[in-house]
Order: sequence, then structure tokens, then C-alpha cells
Amino acid sequence: MTSSAIPTNFKEIGLIEPLIARLTELEYTEPTPIQAQAIPSVLAGRDLIAGANTGSGKTATFALPLLQQITAQPKQNTSKGNYVSALVLVPTRELATQVANSIKSYAAHLNGAIQTVVVFGGVSANTQMLALRGGCDILVATPGRLLDLISSNAIKLDLVKTLVLDEADRMLSSGFTDELTALLALTPSSKQTLLFSATFPEKVKTFTQELLNDPIELQLQNAESSTLVQRVFTVNQGEKTAVLANLIKENKWQQALIFVNAKHGCNHLADKLGKRGIRAQVFHGDKGQGARTQVLQGFKAGEIDVLIATDIAARGLDVEKLPVVINFDLPRSPSDYMHRIGRSGRAGEVGLAISLIDHEDYHHFKVIEKKNKIRLEREQVKGFEVDEEAIKELLEELKPVAKPEGSGKKKRNKTEPVNADIWGKKSDS
Ligand code: AMP
Repeated sequence: MTSSAIPTNFKEIGLIEPLIARLTELEYTEPTPIQAQAIPSVLAGRDLIAGANTGSGKTATFALPLLQQITAQPKQNTSKGNYVSALVLVPTRELATQVANSIKSYAAHLNGAIQTVVVFGGVSANTQMLALRGGCDILVATPGRLLDLISSNAIKLDLVKTLVLDEADRMLSSGFTDELTALLALTPSSKQTLLFSATFPEKVKTFTQELLNDPIELQLQNAESSTLVQRVFTVNQGEKTAVLANLIKENKWQQALIFVNAKHGCNHLADKLGKRGIRAQVFHGDKGQGARTQVLQGFKAGEIDVLIATDIAARGLDVEKLPVVINFDLPRSPSDYMHRIGRSGRAGEVGLAISLIDHEDYHHFKVIEKKNKIRLEREQVKGFEVDEEAIKELLEELKPVAKPEGSGKKKRNKTEPVNADIWGKKSDS
């Protein structure tokens, strides 16, 4: 591959006609930057580590070359048993379904030659075992269920030629490390590996260095090119629900995705909104898979106006033209903030991300801003102006109890500036 010029259309990228025809139908007029830069290398068999904004077309970046490579391979796997040629690992069940659906859609003109199967937990394994009989070309899976299926001999990874880790930072984070290590040990060392994620925290880089062979590295995060507007509203303690209800009603949002940190918090907020005449559905890990699927479909189809979710909805989910994402609770980690807000403003659409912060969130939001290299003007919602005196008092109350020895005084001064401006109408940007 020549690295001189970045291709500007799908033909130049080197895709075959049936794929281009499908992209034309989907009205993909030109490749996104990540597609233009990564697909030629992936087609050439290179390993890849790619960081790009969420909603930047990452799925097609790996799906199209996978389909093309498998089309070019002599058909052999299915006759040889339960083998899989390309494995795509994703962190959540919904993302698994979404990615598999995208792959099947891109393959529409390949005459059914490529078999794509999706497996994930929370539903019966029997149907998935049946689907895997005789192997498949592309398997999209969540790690836990895949390990179960491997231990039941439903699938083998010995012939995997390409491994994709979507939302790689999450896949490589603590919760998944053991499962991922076990799965990687079952794949051949000669495979091609592709890592995609919107964020690549330092701690996962060591792991990826061991995993990848002379990879192409692409970092295409670009705040300026974002079509997503981020706003932050300061609110009085105890008024978040009222402010949220007001925003929803005033703006008449047809679809709003609201993030809350705990499962019971989702239910609680839905009840409280209900009392204010706003019907909301919840989406979290305590719901059965059937209910999760149904709620998500309803939300994507625009039948549900307000969806209150935990971070299981933060990764990779693609709700077309989602107008607004709201952080009712701030996410714990700055990278989760990026993933959450990335549900809106996808594929060049205009989007909006709102965070509601009361005084307890103030410091944490500053950390989120710092880590993500953003700085937002603190705004207030009309009719819910912040009571500056109360805030000052609350901040005073929240001050750590003074240590009699006085040794920590200097440090405390640094970390807790009681800055009334932050809560007032003045901008601190
Ligand atoms: P992804 O980042 O893969 O979740 O993609 C985000 C959205 O962008 C999806 O709705 C895709 O269908 C859409 N998309 C991907 N590539 C293109 C493209 N080249 N042109 C237009 N839309 C695209």
C-alpha cells in the first residue's frame, strides 16, 4: 500500500464492487477519516490500533475489510467443523447485536456467501449453539458467553485469522482482563489484530503492545471536527429532577438518553419523572435480555422518548440522530464521559450533551474536563437559578474537618477553592 495520499472514495480505498454498491445504497457518499486511513492497511493485512471519536464509522472500518478478505478466501471453514474465521469481541450484548447487524447489512450484495453469527449472554445458549454448527465466517461475541460456548465445544478459535477488539479500552479493562486473556490464548498467534476505541488510557497500552504485531497506529480524535455541543448546568442540590423535567418539557426532545450511575437510581428517576408527567423507560443490567432488547428497539424506533440508563448504554450504541444525552449523574471516569456523550452527534449529525452538576459534582466535573481537555462555561437553567448563599454554606459544610495539627492546611486550600463565581451567572471559562 502506498502511504502517500489518503483515498477520497471507496473505490480508491480498494473495496470490491458489491461492497461499494451497498455503501451507495446506504448513502455513504465518502469514507469517514478513519475509514479512509485504516481500511487500506487492514486490507493489506496489517495490525491496527485506532483511536477515533465515537460515531466516526469504526464498525465499517473493520467490517468492510473483514467481508472483503473472507470473500477472497477459499471457502473451507464450514466443512471443517466449528471454526470461525474472524472474531469480533465487544463488551455489551446490545453492541454485539448492533455490530452483527451492520456486518450483515454491509454484506447484502455478497450473495449470502458470508455467515455472520452473534452470541452474547443473558439468553439461552441453545439457539446460539445451533447457529454455530458447522462454524461461521464472522463471529461477533461478548467474552463471557463465548468462553461458555467454547467449553461446550460449540466453537473453536484455532483458525481465527482476524481478531477485532471493539471498544478496546473497555475490553482491556479489569472486568474483562481474565476472560480476554483466556480467549486470546485460544487464538493462533499469527492472526491479524485490530483494536478500536474512542479512548486509549495509558494503562492498556502495555497490553496492546504485547497483543499487536507492528501495528499501524491511528489517532483521529479531533474535538474541532465534532458536531456535538457540550453544555453543563449548575443546579441546586435536590433540584436535578425538577431541572431535568423542565429541560425535557421545554425542549420537547423526542429522544433523550439520560445516564444515571446505579440500576436502582434509574428506576427511582423514572418514577420521579413519571410523577411529573414524563414517561420514561429504564435500561440497565437487572433487566432481562428480552426487556433490554425491547426497550432499546423502542428507543431507537422513536417510540420511547426518554430512556434512563446505566453505563451499559454508554459504549458504541448507535441511535440514529439521537438529539441529546444527559448526565444526570456524572460518570465515574473521564473516559466514560466521552463514551456517554458520544451517543449523540454521531456520523456528522448535530448533537447535544448536557451534564447537570450540583456542588457535590463540581470538583469531579473539573477532573473530567481536565482529563478530556475541555472547558465548558457553567450555565444555569431559567427558573432554577442557583442559590449562591446556600451553595456557599454547603461548600463550607463540606469542607473536611480541620485537622488540629494543621499539617494538611496548605493542601486543602489548594483543592477546595470556594468560588462563588462558578455557581453564579458569571462564566468561569
Ligand atoms: P460507528 O462509529 O461505526 O458506530 O458508526 C456511526 C454511524 O455512522 C452509523 O450510523 C453508520 O451507519 C454511519 N456511517 C459509517 N460510515 C459512514 C460513511 N462513510 N458515511 C456515512 N455514514 C456512515
